[in-house]
Amino acid sequence: MSLAGTPQDSQGIAAEAAGCADTPILRERGQREVFCGLTGIIWLHRKIQDAFFLVVGSRTCAHLLQSAAGVMIFAEPRFATAIIEERDLAGLADANEELDRVVTRLIQRRPDIRMLFLVGSCPSEVIKLDLSRAAQRLSERFLPSVRVLSYSGSGIETTFTEGEDACLAALVPEMPTEPGTARSLLVVGALAEVVEDQFIRLFAALGVGPVRFLPSRRASELPAVGEGTRFLLAQPFLAGTARALEARGARHIPAAFPLGEEGTTAWLRAAAEVWGVSEERFAQATASGRERARAALANHRKTLDGKSIFFFPDSQLEVPLARFLSRELGMQPIEIGTPYLHRQHLAHELALLPATAKLVEGQHVDRQLDRCREARPDMTVCGLGLANPLEAEGLTTKWSIELVFSPIQGYDQAGDLAGLFARPLVRREKLMV
Ligand code: SF4
Repeated sequence: MSLAGTPQDSQGIAAEAAGCADTPILRERGQREVFCGLTGIIWLHRKIQDAFFLVVGSRTCAHLLQSAAGVMIFAEPRFATAIIEERDLAGLADANEELDRVVTRLIQRRPDIRMLFLVGSCPSEVIKLDLSRAAQRLSERFLPSVRVLSYSGSGIETTFTEGEDACLAALVPEMPTEPGTARSLLVVGALAEVVEDQFIRLFAALGVGPVRFLPSRRASELPAVGEGTRFLLAQPFLAGTARALEARGARHIPAAFPLGEEGTTAWLRAAAEVWGVSEERFAQATASGRERARAALANHRKTLDGKSIFFFPDSQLEVPLARFLSRELGMQPIEIGTPYLHRQHLAHELALLPATAKLVEGQHVDRQLDRCREARPDMTVCGLGLANPLEAEGLTTKWSIELVFSPIQGYDQAGDLAGLFARPLVRREKLMV
């Protein structure tokens, strides 16, 4: 079942010092309650408009996608599940032949598709179906009209947002090579188009560019990468993609993430510094956005100021969110759980967290539930599986999945992001009257 996690090997807890900040980190291994990486298809299929995601999985995988995406099958969505039946699992059918048949039928039916992702799941891992070889074989058959790639979204290997990381990492070898060493900026991580357009305008005002995005809106128009590429991560869960880009010669620009007025300014400033933009030009280009963000945040500060918040590990957005909520809205993070903590990519964020917050990497859900119940936070950020039981116990919750689906980056989304946290508190107050 996708909502249930995979039990890990140890129940041990270890504390260690963060590499980039002195904050101690509690490392937990135990039962997890996190969606699997298939979930990423729900936002990626909307973003990459000529791609199709074919999950090679079970009925459970199909149900997860169908219910989470809320798309009717007759709407011809750009994702589907090739269901592995019992006879495949029993080795009675040749899974590769079956897959080739399904893919051929799909490509004949959908001539608009330019890139097909074969997405691995728990069942395809169990029968050891080699999807990368299948993708190679099918690419040879369908190129130049359709390229076939593969990645894993299996719950055995990935949590929730790692599906996006695996998908983008699979795209990196397909990116054309940028000739020469001319500098360009690559923004990495799926962003809503409205956010992308705002950043394009801001970088133009700063004189930073050319600017490209990964993923691109069309898989057939992937950005070039090379020695001159500098990249900014727009999401904190893209460690594999960052490594793949570095292997192609690109260099990471370390920065805080573009959440809130402060995070967006720090993120833009990091690129501006690489491009040698003057302080005056930076101030001019960002002044109105900063002002709009501050004004929008002020509306929510009165609701959120002084409220305690507890994060269960889910989306890997937890650390930047805690930084934003504590520094710009006065919230008090009690515990910040995250499935993985990439010290290097989060260095700028960790340095800004309040010293009183407990940082937890990994999950032992029972122990964390005990700590949450004891702390009785004003707000708990968690996955769907935990939200209802906690609400029934009188705790106010926020679904972390909503934070990945919503446009939350940049100046003009700062108020909406704060609103996502303020709304459940306002609703509870009203219910209590
Ligand atoms: S990939 Fe695994 S965890 Fe995810 S829906 Fe399929 S069976 Fe469940």
